[in-house]
Amino acid sequence: MNPVLIDGKALATKMRARLKTQVDAFRAERGAEIGLAVVLVGDDPASQVYVRNKIKACEEVGIRSYSYKLPEETSEEELASLLDELVKAKNVHGILVQLPLPKHLDERKILRLIPPAKDVDGFCAENLGNLAMNRETIVSCTPFGVMKMLEEYGIDPKGKRAVVLGRSNIVGKPMAMLLLNADATVTVCHSKTRNLNKICAEADILVVAIGKAKFVTADMVKEGAVVIDVGMDRDENGKLCGDVDFEAVKNKASFITPVPGGVGPMTITMLLYNTVVAASRS
Ligand code: NAP
Repeated sequence: MNPVLIDGKALATKMRARLKTQVDAFRAERGAEIGLAVVLVGDDPASQVYVRNKIKACEEVGIRSYSYKLPEETSEEELASLLDELVKAKNVHGILVQLPLPKHLDERKILRLIPPAKDVDGFCAENLGNLAMNRETIVSCTPFGVMKMLEEYGIDPKGKRAVVLGRSNIVGKPMAMLLLNADATVTVCHSKTRNLNKICAEADILVVAIGKAKFVTADMVKEGAVVIDVGMDRDENGKLCGDVDFEAVKNKASFITPVPGGVGPMTITMLLYNTVVAASRS
């Protein structure tokens, strides 16, 4: 089988052009900029790259970014006081605290300080709860991006058997809820799942988010399945790869996402999207 490559990069470019138009319209109508505050604590190199990419993406569509780089030893009180200012600021429509935070800061406690309306990552309990109840909400960027990719390629989850591999609060769980809300029959697998290979091989849509390089092999994929690889790993040669053994699996899939160039570019795009939504609801 010759699979269709799901091109996340192309879709991201298309969506960003549309977002730029919406950002311009917001500015014209309200006489104000859409603003996203990005808070980074410490000097984790990967986090610095992510933050830089997010700020660059904001510039691309005309969202004003406010960047706060705090030292590693920042106290909970100092961070809370900055967040309090950002929550009150009228020019800030979305607040993003780059994770992971340094060990001495309680992530859950800090994230609770961001109100749902400005939680453009869609991480807070209220936004996740609304998603579980299929109500209007802000959806976690990565799984939201996956849904946009399925939509773009005319893949309707309705009635399909979907298997989500991974159950993290930011990817696996919201992914499963989105697929369920789209009328798929969803199974969530994790590290304690028995008969994992067999369950995966039953999937019409298989979404993999576990962080294990090339974990999903051809025997775990049904002929004609749609395979979405969220993983961002390194192979034995240090080369970027996904959780799916792409070369082995691609001949069985009808649609497949590459790594890089699949889910990755959509994640930041959905952050921009969520920021525009948060601003328009404000
Ligand atoms: P995470 O919080 O570490 O969660 C991993 C999940 O995978 C857990 O639920 C874990 O099960 C499950 N798991 C681990 N090993 C397994 C195994 N051998 N068999 C079955 N399940 C297994 O990871 P995450 O934040 O969801 O991220 C997952 C991957 O996606 C990572 O590679 C990450 O870099 C990538 N990611 C990419 C993007 C993007 O934009 N492309 C965004 C976010 C994340 P338990 O719950 O039982 O421990």
